[in-house]
Order: sequence, then C-alpha cells, then structure tokens
Amino acid sequence: MTLRTLDTLGSLAGRRVVVRCDLNVPLKDGTITDDGRIRASLPTLNRLLDAGATVTVVSHLGRPDGAPDERYSLRPVAARLGELLGREVGFGPEAAGDVVVRENLRFDPRETSKDAGERRAYAEEIAAGADAFVSDGFGVVHRKQASVYELAQVLPSAAGLLIAGELGVLERLTRDPAKPYTVVLGGSKVSDKLGVIDHLLPRVDSLLIGGGMLFTFLAAAGHPVGKSLLEADQIPVVRDYLTRAEQLGVRIVVPTDVVVAAAFAADADHETVAADAIESTRFGADAIGLDIGPDTAESFARAITGSRTVFWNGPMGVFEFPVFAAGTKRVAEALTEVDGLSVVGGGDSAAAVRTLGFGEDRFGHISTGGGASLEFLEGKRLPGLEVLGWEAES
Ligand code: ADP
Ligand code: MG
Repeated sequence: MTLRTLDTLGSLAGRRVVVRCDLNVPLKDGTITDDGRIRASLPTLNRLLDAGATVTVVSHLGRPDGAPDERYSLRPVAARLGELLGREVGFGPEAAGDVVVRENLRFDPRETSKDAGERRAYAEEIAAGADAFVSDGFGVVHRKQASVYELAQVLPSAAGLLIAGELGVLERLTRDPAKPYTVVLGGSKVSDKLGVIDHLLPRVDSLLIGGGMLFTFLAAAGHPVGKSLLEADQIPVVRDYLTRAEQLGVRIVVPTDVVVAAAFAADADHETVAADAIESTRFGADAIGLDIGPDTAESFARAITGSRTVFWNGPMGVFEFPVFAAGTKRVAEALTEVDGLSVVGGGDSAAAVRTLGFGEDRFGHISTGGGASLEFLEGKRLPGLEVLGWEAES
C-alpha cells in the first residue's frame, strides 16, 4: 500500500476539512522565535482553500499537562498563520470562517492517552461536523495520538503535501542513495541518535560525529572528557558500532580538536584543544566541550562537499551561544555546497541553519520532523504514516 495523497479525497469544494499540522513553534515570552513550521504548513492549507474547502487547523504546542495553560496557547500561532496566509484566521471553539485554528490539542489529556478508547472518543469530538481529515504534521507521525492516528480512522483521510514531500526525501536517503553517502550527527539527545547509527551503518560511507555525542565516542576511545555531555552507559554500544564500522568499511570520523569552556555559558572563558587532551587546559577536569574545533570543522566540511548524499541531524556545538556556533556554521555551509541531495533533519538543526542566516532554499531539504525523521531512518514503524496507507519495505 502506498500513502493516500490529497487527490484520493475527491472534490473538496464546500467541504470542511480538519488538518493536523505541526505548529509546535518555539516561543519566548509569547513571541514566536522561529515560524518555520507555520510556513511549512502553508502549501497544504492553500491547496485546500483553493479547492474551495473550509479548513479547521489542529495542532499541539509544547507539553502542557493535559489541561489549559495560557503559556501554550496557539493564539499567537493563529495570528501568524493569518499573516502568512493573507486571510482572516479564526481562533478557538466559537470561531467560524474559511480558516479556523483550534486551541492546543494537548489541553485535553486524551490526545496523548495510552488508552485507545479515550483517544478514539477525542478524535470523534475533533471530527464532529467535518467531512475529511488531512494529516500534515510530519513531526508527530511517529506518535500514536488521537489527532494523528485515531482521527485518520474516524474520517476519510489522506496525507498532506508536507508529509508526502518529507516521505519522498526520506525514502531517497534509505533506498539506493547516491554515493558517497555521508551522515553527520550531533546535538544533545545522544542515546536517541545512536539508534540511527545502527540502522544506517550498512548504508553509509562516512559517519561524522559532532555535538554532545562526540564525548561518548571520545570516552569509548579511552579519552577523558571533563564535564562534557557524556552518556557513560552508551560506551559499550559505541564500541560495538566502531567495531562494526570497521568490518563494513564505514568511516566513523570523531573530532580531532574541540572547543572547551570553563562553564556552560555564552560568555564562558574558552579555548581549542586536541580532542584527546580535553582535561589538559587551565580548566582542568572542569572543562566542558561546547563545539568541534576548527580543524575538525574543516575536515567535516571536506567530507560533506565531496559527497553526493548528506543527511545532517544535530548541531555540532552549542550554537545558541555565538562563540560556540562556528562548527555548526561550517557544517551548514558545507551542506549548501553539496552536488547532490543535502538534508537537514531535527528541530534544533533546522532552527540553527535559519538563525545562522542560511536560506532554506540552499539545502536540498529541511525536515520539519526531528524525532519522526530519525525513527524513519532507524527503520521503525510510524503509526501516523501506516494509518494513511503507507507501508515500510520489508
Ligand atoms: P535536533 O533538534 O536537531 O535533533 P538535539 O535536540 O539533539 O538536535 O540537540 C540540540 C541541542 O544540542 C542544541 O540546543 C545544542 O545547544 C546542543 N548541543 C550541541 N552540542 C553540544 C555540546 N557539546 N554540549 C551540550 N549540548 C550541545
Ligand atoms: Mg531538538
């Protein structure tokens, strides 16, 4: 079975369509700091509106505790969506009109309930009065939640353009990718990302390790890492990957130099040091590695630009602090120079390329779903795609 796309819903003129988007944008004091996910939802919404449908947009935002919480209201998101669509957008249960945004789905505990019956009941409430459902929140397709899974069973349903596009790109990364194929991993969710290595090892030529996960690799090689991010319990797993990579002829590239700091802070005293001598600076065993070093950044950039397929997930350093953003910036720049397919996955990685000033169109694809794209690349089953007819190749 293949993914049911929008055309399978037939004529939508005059019909009310519920659209599940992923509008989980970062907010600071009620202001949206990166509207990438709202922009990503526009093609599907415009397509439906052009077809004469009226649209109810549903989404989650953050992790409220299953109860209303103003800090996680979608009201500012609805306002921004109105600006981007260039039309009136209603908000809340009383609103009417061509486009209405419902309040945060997770204000109701049934959205993420473990109980299928509760989720089903919530889905039926969301579906009330609607004729069709379009699932377009790629960032949540790995979750069995009411608005992702049950809602697609309650109404005639199909995938939106965002999900269809994301899936197309991810399939190119797993089926017959053009070689050389390089995967760059970083960020702070170390154990989450190790699973991807497991599945991708037999498929890639090079694996570049940066960000918070590099320290678990250094520790696996017997090097001290000071107070850097370390998942000590993952060291045996990493050692196993290193052995398997050698057997498969895959190059795992671990940094040769690192930027270490006296503290985890934007203005921390810092210096560049050889990766096997992290505790040798004046910070001693208190040193915290916050970025890959310049030599490493250059060698990563060379490996990336020499590849035909590149997938990058996870910042190379704490890019939120400008002095520790250089490694991430160099890697992002290299991705823009790839003669082939370059894909950025991960919420923070996508935010990094935007805040560092790289235009989105300079990359082959920027995925809106961090966890979902990782689980896809891990070869896991994604309930939110399967319910739309998609099946992984076995
Ligand atoms: P993504 O959302 O792209 O999948 P993650 O959520 O795994 O990425 O990680 C992003 C975070 O990783 C960023 O906030 C960044 O500051 C952090 N990070 C990167 N390098 C380090 C490091 N050396 N130490 C601690 N945190 C790091
Ligand atoms: Mg993240």
